Amino acid sequence: MDLKKLAQTLIPESDLLPLEKYEEMYPPRKLPKGAQVTRLAPSPTGFIHLGNLYSALADERIAHTTGGIFYLRIEDTDEKRRVEGAVESVIRSLKYFNVVFDEGAEISSPLNNYGPYYQRQRAKIYRAFAKDLIERGLAYPCFCTEEELGAIREEQTAEKLTPGYYGRFAKCRNLSERQIYDNLAAGKPFVIRLKSMGDSAVKYTFRDRIKGDITVTENDQDVVILKSDGIPTYHFAHAVDDHFMRTTLVIRGEEWLSSLPVHIELFKVLGFPMPAYGHTCSLMKVDGGVKRKLSKRKDPELSLDYYRRAGYYPKAVIKYLMTILNSNFEEWERKNPSADYTQFKFTIEKMGKSGALFDLDKLNDISKTELSLLSPDEMFDFLNDWVCEFGSSADREHFKNREYVVRILELIMGANSKKRRKDIERAEQGVRLMDYFFDDAFAPEYSYRFAPSTVKAVLSSFAQVYDPADDNQTWFAKLKGVAAACGFAAETSDYKANPSAYIGNMADASEILRIAVTGMPNSPDLCTIMGILGKQRSLARLAAAAEKV
Ligand code: GLU
Repeated sequence: MDLKKLAQTLIPESDLLPLEKYEEMYPPRKLPKGAQVTRLAPSPTGFIHLGNLYSALADERIAHTTGGIFYLRIEDTDEKRRVEGAVESVIRSLKYFNVVFDEGAEISSPLNNYGPYYQRQRAKIYRAFAKDLIERGLAYPCFCTEEELGAIREEQTAEKLTPGYYGRFAKCRNLSERQIYDNLAAGKPFVIRLKSMGDSAVKYTFRDRIKGDITVTENDQDVVILKSDGIPTYHFAHAVDDHFMRTTLVIRGEEWLSSLPVHIELFKVLGFPMPAYGHTCSLMKVDGGVKRKLSKRKDPELSLDYYRRAGYYPKAVIKYLMTILNSNFEEWERKNPSADYTQFKFTIEKMGKSGALFDLDKLNDISKTELSLLSPDEMFDFLNDWVCEFGSSADREHFKNREYVVRILELIMGANSKKRRKDIERAEQGVRLMDYFFDDAFAPEYSYRFAPSTVKAVLSSFAQVYDPADDNQTWFAKLKGVAAACGFAAETSDYKANPSAYIGNMADASEILRIAVTGMPNSPDLCTIMGILGKQRSLARLAAAAEKV
C-alpha cells in the first residue's frame, strides 16, 4: 500500500510543519538539574474539584521546591463538555488557595513559550504526528460505525473477552487499499487508530512515583488517536503535549492507570522519551461507616466552589490537604508550629498509595485553629472578602461599620483574654454567628426553661439596675442580686447544698438574660455583648423579650 499517498489523502493540509520543526519550536527547557516541570490539565467542564486541588498542590509544591515550572493546559478536545468561563474559574479557584501557575492558558507570563495551551488550538501539531504514523504504517483509518462497534462489544461480552478494538475485532486494520479508497469515495466518516504492536500476554514492571512498582500489561488495543472531527483523543494529545511542553512529571488521578499501557506505546511509536508518572489515589470519605469515593452527585464538598462559598480559610484547606498528601506533614508542623507550609519539604514518594480519607470534621478543626490565630482586624478582612462576594446586602451594610464589627470580633475571638476562642470555623458561619449584634438580622426564638413570671421578673428587674458604665464585676454583682430576689441561688455552692430551696442557680438566671439579649442560651461574655449593643438597644431587647414571654 502506498502509505504516503494514504496519509496525504487522510490528512491533506499543506500547512503542517516537518516534525523536526516542532522539536525546534519547543526545545527542552533550560532549568537547573533536578527541576521538575509539572502541569494541571483540566477539561473546561466548569467543575473543579478537590481532587484537582489535591493534584495541583502536589504539582505546585514539586515544581516550586525543585526550581521547576508548573503550568496550566486546557484539555478542551471534548467540545460538548465545554462550559463558558470554566478556565477563569479554574484559575480563580486555585488562586484562592494560593496555588499559582508559572505559565499556561490565560496566564500572562514571559515563560509562555510552549503554547498554545488550549488543545483545540494545537490541532495541527497532532495532525502532523498522526500523519507521520500513518506514513509509517503505525496508524490507519477506521470506518466502523457505532452499530458495528456495538456489535463487537456484544460479541466480546457474550464470549467474556476483553472489550475493545484489537486483534480479530480490529476489522479496519486489514482493509485493502481499494476498500479504504472506496470508503473514502463513499464519504464514510473515519477515525484514525493506532496500529498497536503490543501483546496482552506480555507483562512488565513500571515504576509509578506514587504507587511504586506496578505490573503493566502491554497494550494491544488499536485506540483512536484522531476522532472523526480530526481532533485528538486524550491519549494522543497527552503524549504529544507532555512531550512538547516538556513535562517531566505527570501527576494525575489513578483512573488513568488503566490507560497507561496505551500511553507507553504512544510515546514509543512517537519516539518521545517518557515523563515520570505519579497516579494519585482517590479521595474517600466514611459514609455511614463505609469508606467510599467522594462523589460529584452526593458530596457537595467535592467541588472547590463549595469551599469558597462556605468561606473556608484557604490556608486551612491547604494545610489539611498537606496532611493527607504527605504523611509526615503533621509531625513537621508540630515541630515547626510557626513555619509556613511552603517550608515543608514535600516529596512525591510520601504521597499515599491508596484511598486518601477526606474528613470534613478534621478540616473544620484545622480551620478553627488557623482562624483563631488571626487578629480581629485580619479576621475582619477575611470575613469582609466573603461578605463582598457571597454575603447578603444586609451583611454588606453591617460590614461597612468596621469599628463595630472589629469590636464584636475582639469578643468572639477572645482577643483580649488569655485563651483564644475557636468559635469561627469559616466565613459564612462566622458572619452568621454575629447576626445577633445587628437589629435587622436579630431573629430570636426565645425558649426558656422557667415559668413566664420568673422570666419576666428577671428581665424587668435587671433592666432597672442595668448601667452600661458598670464594669464586669459590678454587672455580675447586680445580676446576682436580681437572681436572688427572683428565687435563684446567688452562689453555686448554696444551690448545691440545698437545691430544693431555689428555683435554680445563678447560671440559670443569667441564661434567661442571655436568651433575651442574644436569642441563644450560649454566647461569649454577656456583659461585653450588652456593652457593644449599648444601653438603648440592650434595654429594648430585654423589654421585647419580656413582652413575648
Ligand atoms: N484532562 C484530564 C482530566 O481532567 C487530565 C488528566 C491528566 O492530568 O493527564 O482528567
